[in-house]
Amino acid sequence: MKASRRTFLTWLGLLPAGFLLFSRKYPVEAAGPLKLDDPTAQALCYRLKTSQVDKSDPRCSRFEPSQNCANCKLYLAAPTAPQGPCQIFQNKIVPAEAWCNAWVPRD
Ligand code: SF4
Repeated sequence: MKASRRTFLTWLGLLPAGFLLFSRKYPVEAAGPLKLDDPTAQALCYRLKTSQVDKSDPRCSRFEPSQNCANCKLYLAAPTAPQGPCQIFQNKIVPAEAWCNAWVPRD
């Protein structure tokens, strides 16, 4: 077997291992950004910044100033990540400083 063919087959054999390593590091396939006009986002008082939350709006009634996506259990990224996928919105991307009425405390 020629060296170039052997090298090619070796790299080809490493592809599944590379895929497994990559999928462990990034287990969540993120969708695009969550849009403000998403009907579920509107129903759950989704806001890009916590300063935009109007607690007098009944949809936003659960808001507390200490809450944001970064400290929400449904935020599927490290708390220090500037943005990440949200589980309740089918892994659409939300900013760390955003919020919605489905907030759950992170463990
Ligand atoms: S469920 Fe949590 S992470 Fe998702 S938008 Fe609401 S507060 Fe942010």
